[in-house]
Amino acid sequence: MGGIQGVLLDIDGVLTVSWRALPGAIETVEWLRERHVPFRLITNTTTHTRADLAATLRSAGIAVEAEEIVTAVVATASYLRAHRPGARVFVLSDGNARADLEGVTLVEEGADVVVLGGAYEGFTYEALNRAFRMLMDGAELIGMHRNLYWRTSEGWQLDGGAFIAGLEEATGRRAVVCGKPAAAYFESALSTIGVTPERAAMVGDDVVNDVLGAQAAGLTGVLVRTGKFRPEDLERAPGVPDHVIDEVGSLPELLERLS
Ligand SMILES: [Mg+2]
Repeated sequence: MGGIQGVLLDIDGVLTVSWRALPGAIETVEWLRERHVPFRLITNTTTHTRADLAATLRSAGIAVEAEEIVTAVVATASYLRAHRPGARVFVLSDGNARADLEGVTLVEEGADVVVLGGAYEGFTYEALNRAFRMLMDGAELIGMHRNLYWRTSEGWQLDGGAFIAGLEEATGRRAVVCGKPAAAYFESALSTIGVTPERAAMVGDDVVNDVLGAQAAGLTGVLVRTGKFRPEDLERAPGVPDHVIDEVGSLPELLERLS
């Protein structure tokens, strides 16, 4: 594998939809292991801890360990510890990922930092207005990611990035984003497998956050036509993916062609 020596894979929409394995997902992960191609699963999902994610994927037949997964929640915790140590943090996010926010002081009022993660029913007017008031009082806005939507077996789901955009518009300030498409997130995932961006590929179903974000960080971008993929998103995207494949099951063939 001369060209690409390591791979980052998005989870939702690439390996699974509604936590069921997509065609070729199980075999592709097995193929990467057999060929000793180092990989990490890099996800903006905020509903699960890494340990929960690994267990959920294993029950879908995808054999991975918690250490092989990096999440936007873990990246956010790292950012807060490094750049805002001791800050009082208000978190609005789906899931029980707070276990991955160890060392972060969580508050409900008077925060120094407002963190938005994945959207859920708790994104009520009351909760968003509470966040807005803290921002107007000087709190910093951080996004675990800025995904606008995702897709489940039930249909389209509006995500946290849409609410971040609204808060940015209202406050006139920009959020710091810790998950995809932040370059630092791709770089820190690659550092755990010792692969440089020029020798790595990122596979995702979100053309902006996964693919173009990775390409901006120096990786080869691979878009899959599964999950949230829609042809119109590709057409209106502010860039062009390096490669587009029908599903993750086509990845081994692409990597062999690139080698
Ligand atoms: Mg995805």
